[in-house]
Formats: sequence, structure tokens, C-alpha cells
Amino acid sequence: MSKGAKRKRKKAGKIGTRREDSRFSSMNISTIEQHKRVGSKFVPPLAQIPKMTTSSWSDHHMPEMLWAVLLAGALDRPHYLPLLRKIAIRCRSWFVREDDESAEKQMPDPETGLNFSVVVDQTKLAEISDEEFHNFISIPLAHPLGYAALRPILLIDDLPGIARWKREIDVEPTGDDWNTLASAISRVLDHQSEASTDIRWFKVIIAIISGRMQFPTSFGERLEEFRLFPDKGDMRSVRPSIRAMEMTLRRSTPAGWIEKYWAQALRDTRCIDPSEGQGYTFVDTGIDPDSLYAARDRIIEKFRRNIRAERVDARLDSAFGLVLYALSILEEIGMHRIHTRIVGAVALRSLAEVCITLRSLASTDSPAMWQSYRVYGAGQAKLAFLKTQQMHGDLPNFLDESALHLIANEDTWQEFLDIDVGHWASSNLRKMASDCGDKDIYDMYYDWSSAFIHGNWAAVRDSNFVSCHNPLHRLHRIPRVAHRELNSIELDAIGLTSDMITVLEKLFPGDEKIPRVALRGTALPQ
Ligand SMILES: [Zn+2]
Repeated sequence: MSKGAKRKRKKAGKIGTRREDSRFSSMNISTIEQHKRVGSKFVPPLAQIPKMTTSSWSDHHMPEMLWAVLLAGALDRPHYLPLLRKIAIRCRSWFVREDDESAEKQMPDPETGLNFSVVVDQTKLAEISDEEFHNFISIPLAHPLGYAALRPILLIDDLPGIARWKREIDVEPTGDDWNTLASAISRVLDHQSEASTDIRWFKVIIAIISGRMQFPTSFGERLEEFRLFPDKGDMRSVRPSIRAMEMTLRRSTPAGWIEKYWAQALRDTRCIDPSEGQGYTFVDTGIDPDSLYAARDRIIEKFRRNIRAERVDARLDSAFGLVLYALSILEEIGMHRIHTRIVGAVALRSLAEVCITLRSLASTDSPAMWQSYRVYGAGQAKLAFLKTQQMHGDLPNFLDESALHLIANEDTWQEFLDIDVGHWASSNLRKMASDCGDKDIYDMYYDWSSAFIHGNWAAVRDSNFVSCHNPLHRLHRIPRVAHRELNSIELDAIGLTSDMITVLEKLFPGDEKIPRVALRGTALPQ
């Protein structure tokens, strides 16, 4: 995408129904409204189900199907699906019972859930007879690529029944087989990928054709779709249905060898750091300094024209001051090229708050509120000043005692000035934004930018870690060589600042228009 396209001015976002043009729109994602509020938490629908336990495909259940993963990794789909089908038919007899006790045998245990063992997985393949094993493995080995596909399995020291696998395949694995294994695993780390769904279908079909699951007659059509997969029915519903059923066909306690397998993979293969060689980058700003300084000059001129004789004009000082403060932040964003850096997100958070504060003050436009904003600030300066007076040892360098004393005493002698340790409008930013009809600004800018101010895990993860590209390492995180470039906040910062200038023009009407800050190469509405 070109820089110009990226900088297209965005329309104000509103929280409502799900966006259809998101790349995540086809995923099962519960909306905020579908969560249930419990105290300070929003609990998603699935987590509200009592005794719900989670079970991980990629961590625990996929490795059990390693042989199938390798086939799906090395062969094209038109080749591996018929193999899976053939194996299902041949292995069906391992599970068929003469008596009709199957339903009782697979009743769920109330503590651990259903421990489903009707599955041709690595654990089962170590339990069957030599003859059954030979019958099973001769199907993939008859394929021209069968040996090459399955050979990497011999690398796994703790694979159940490894000796028999070695005997049947009878070739030495090479170092390159780790790459084959990695490539196969990369296709199934996502539990909803095509290869994952195909392998999960195999598990389901074995349970069905061995008669070890009972279904109501109304399920007939779906069973037929499973039987003829992937050639019958609408895959948009068949595939999720396969995955949902596979989740009920899992061993409740993953086998012990699986953790050893992941540990071996981590020990025997190296991390692949996608950030290797990436240094620090500073992207030049698109903020047009001429327009920024012109806006500032014009605002100062306008301020001068509006000065009145009264000693303290809270409305004038606060409204102009907030806009000048926003312009200062914008200037620092541009001139110091921080728009794609962590400090850029911190700056955007500050701009969002400053913008909501001005819009809230302007919406009531009451002398008491302008005064309250100002007195609160002076009280904060007094509090900081008093702390410097009671602090022993060296003061922090950033504290400027004289400036604090000046501001604390500017309007009123500080001995008559209250210190308010609450919020200046006895409110909070979210409520203020809602009250003045600006919840959209809050929703768009506040939450994620706050993560960077607070250094919460998500911001730390986003900026300083990268997922290792070795699929055998299960997407673990490794530190970035240099912290990453984030999406630019310039356009959003300019939008908030322009919005504040519009508010200022309404508060102090006049003939002369204040220019807006422009982004080079982009015509912003004036
Ligand atoms: Zn790694």
C-alpha cells in the first residue's frame, strides 16, 4: 500500500454491530455486548459455562497425529486425503465392537470429561500388534513420497513405539528432516487451517465408521457430508462442524511424551528471528511544519484579540491553552519523528484526553467548569510544590520548584487554594466523553494508547517481542533486536488537533479562519 493510501483520512468510528470489512469478520468472535459483566470483568460466553476446560489442538492433540501431519505437509491434498480415507477404512476394525456396549464405554467421567481413545494417533499406534501396525503403515509407504514424508518422525526420541517405526521405515533421518517437520507443523499450528481441519476430519470419521458414536437420525445429512468430505455440503458449515465434533473426541489427559517432544524440538533446532538485521528506523514525518507554525501564530493572534481587562479569564486561557498544548504535542511528534514509536502512542493518548477535556468544557461552557479546570490544575502544582518542600536529599531533576510555586500562587495565594485529589470535574474521562457526546473519540483512541502509557503486557509484547518463526518452537516469543515500528499516529493526531481548533473557533467566533495542520501530500479539509 502506498503512503498516500495509508494516509487517507478516516471517518469517525462508532461502536456498533460487527464490521463486515474486517479481515476477522468471518471468525467466531463474541462482541463486547455478548460478554457478561461480573464485577469489573467482562466474561465471554464460553467462559460462562461451568466446569469448562480448554484443550489445545496445537500443544497437545496435534502432536498425537504427527504421522498425518507429516503426510499433509509433504503431499498435496488430492494425494493425502485419499490416503487418510484408506487408512480410516483399514483401521476401522481396531475399534469395532461385537457387543453393543460402546455407548457405556465412552460415557464421560464427571471429573475429567470424556477420555476418547478411538483414534489412530501415535499413542494408539504403539499399542496395536505388529501386524496391525504393518497394515497401517504400508498404506502411506506405498505412495512414492511416503518414506520421505514420514522419515522425520524418526527424529523424535520419545515417540511411543519408536523402534517399530524405525524398523518399518528403515532409513536414517537426515538433519534436513527437521526442516520437513517444521514445514509440516507450520500448516497445522492454526487449529482452523485446511490441513488441521482435514486431520481433525480423519479423527471424526474413524469414530463414526467404527460405530463407536451414536447419532440421532436427524444427524443423517451431516454424517453423509462427513463421509463424503470435502465433496458434499457447504464447507463453511461442514468444516466448523468437523472441528466442533473433534473437540469432543480427544484424550482427556495428553500423553507424557508430547511435552518431551516439544522440549526436544526446542533443544535440537534453532530459533528463527524474523527481526534479525533490523535496526532502529526513524520514519520522516509527514506533518507540514509551515501549516503547523501558521496555525500556532494565528491562534496566538486570536488570543490577543480576545484578551479582556479581568485579571483571570479561565475560559480564554484554558480554551486557547489546551489547543496550544495539543499543537505542541503535534510539533514534537513531527519534529522528533516519534509518530511510529512508543512515545507516539503515549502522545496520542495525551491528545485524546486533551481533546475530550476541551470538548467537554466547551459543551457546557459554564464559568464554573472553566474555573474548576483551572483551580484543579493550580492545586496539582501546589501539591507537587509542597512535596518538594518536604522531600529530603536531591530533588528529581525534572521538578522545577520555582515554576510550581509560580503556578500554585498565580490566581490565589496558595494558603487559600484547595488541593483536589479527585478529578477536576468530579468525573472521569469516559463519563465526560459520554456526557458531551464524544464517546467515539474515547472508544477510538483511549484504550489501546493507554496500554503504552501504563506499559501493560500487550504494549510490551507488541513493541519488544516477536514470534520466533521456527514452527517447532510453537510461536514462542523472542526479544526483538530493535523495538518495532508501530503504525503511524500522525493522521489521528492531526485529526484530534483539527477538531480542537474547530471547537476553539466556535467558542471565539471571528472572521478569520485558523489554518489546519496539513500532512504533506494530503489535502485535508480546511
Ligand atoms: Zn524459537
